[in-house]
Amino acid sequence: MKLNNSTLDQLSPEVSVPAYDRSILRHGIVHIGVGGFHRAHEAVYTHQLLQAGGSADWSICGVGLREGDRAMQQVLSQQDHLYTLIELGADNTNVLSVIGSITDFLFAPEEQDAVIEKLASPQVKIVSLTITEGGYNVDDNTGRFNESHPDILYDLENPQQPRTVFGYLSEALDRRRARNLPPFTVMSCDNLPENGHVARSALLAFANLRNAELASWIDAKVSFPSSMVDRITPGTNDKHRQWLTADYDLEDGWPVICEPFYQWVLEDDFCNGRPEWEKVGVQFTDNVAPYERMKIRLLNASHSAMAYLGYLAGYRYTHEVMADERFSHFIRSFMDEDVTPILGEISGIDIPVYKQTLIERFSNPQMGDQLARLCMDGSSKIPKFLVPTVQTLVNEGRPLSRVAMIIASWALYLRGQDEQGQHHEINDPMAARLKSAVGDRGNLTPEFLGMSDIFGTTLASSSDFEEAFDAALDKLETNGVFAGLQSLQDA
Ligand code: NAD
Repeated sequence: MKLNNSTLDQLSPEVSVPAYDRSILRHGIVHIGVGGFHRAHEAVYTHQLLQAGGSADWSICGVGLREGDRAMQQVLSQQDHLYTLIELGADNTNVLSVIGSITDFLFAPEEQDAVIEKLASPQVKIVSLTITEGGYNVDDNTGRFNESHPDILYDLENPQQPRTVFGYLSEALDRRRARNLPPFTVMSCDNLPENGHVARSALLAFANLRNAELASWIDAKVSFPSSMVDRITPGTNDKHRQWLTADYDLEDGWPVICEPFYQWVLEDDFCNGRPEWEKVGVQFTDNVAPYERMKIRLLNASHSAMAYLGYLAGYRYTHEVMADERFSHFIRSFMDEDVTPILGEISGIDIPVYKQTLIERFSNPQMGDQLARLCMDGSSKIPKFLVPTVQTLVNEGRPLSRVAMIIASWALYLRGQDEQGQHHEINDPMAARLKSAVGDRGNLTPEFLGMSDIFGTTLASSSDFEEAFDAALDKLETNGVFAGLQSLQDA
């Protein structure tokens, strides 16, 4: 049975469905970047609030800015923007829910003005983003907005037909300003330290290039709450679609799979109102930075470590990596000995319990979380997830062998071949430059660590780190990942 409004009351009783009237919902939120994560996180919290009798003013209109979003627009429009959330428990239990909080989707390349007008409409009070870590167009080292990106130059020349998120947001905010409407809140839900600050400085930098008065209006009126977002959401594949059809007689073109765990800590800074998400478990706070730091440095950095070391060793999924004691020991030591001592206190969080939960989440065999997904875009992930930890370890004279091993495994992964000789693509906007930096072993260490936009300057100027990195490269190249990990355990 095809999933849509008319079949909701015929679905298997094991699948929960929206109990609210979707026809009366209004779009208080526009979300840009409707991938797997948004549909497993913000859209789910918003759905749960509607299930609990929350206000009809807060449904979501999805927007896709990239060619790659065309498929999502087509699939969702064929099923009245409904989709199935499949929570895969480690104990083999599955919880299935049809999510109804997204009620429209606009594909921006084909309806630019409709997107700008939607963003400018008085009903819209929040614009949320999951545009990936690299989507903010900011140099990780200097924090500067890349003003010379061709799409940015295009948007400055063509403000009514933008391509980038900054072009859309500033044109819509400019129309709101001209119409004497209040602005919307810009809410980043990407995995970035201080994601609200990053979104704010990027948008202000763009707006300043366009019109200084608009920039100062945004500066004064728009709020950019930071958040810590968490729910592991691997990519959907055909097996999930086929399984839904075979076991539940449910045809869904793009279900979402995720783990049962989810968390959202959000700064309570909304210039134009917000849903009562606290009623469904969102934790509002004045200072989200310690939570973000904890999550990014423990969860995301461990993901990157598992990804490059595991991929080189021949593994393809996180649970395979975690089932190997050599890896789980390494990840545990990295979290306990490298990250925890420099994290500081995080009020309300029991760090040992948090780390134990992470180990269990990484090990969930049902998830099938692909290392390839975690390997993508290292040039924007490593600087945010790992480099700050390494810089502190260097500055405090702490042991460097584990973090050097992780960075060395990224460098070797960038050569495009695992230890069995299997080739892989390097999926990264900086792929050409990264590949060239790791091509010549004789020069690899200074050339790779010398990329100051990725590593800053601390790593390249530390002889201790250079030595640890070089030694890790030698171990991995000569004896392989397993022996490399073993040598750390024996040390
Ligand atoms: P996805 O590939 O399913 O979707 C990515 C979306 O981002 C797409 O709609 C794409 O068009 C859009 N996008 C990418 N670059 C863009 C750009 N420059 N401008 C505008 N839009 C752009 O990925 P996902 O799993 O939904 O993850 C998206 C982001 O969510 C991650 O990068 C991360 O910051 C955050 N996140 C993901 C997870 C997870 O487990 N998947 C967990 C926590 C946070």
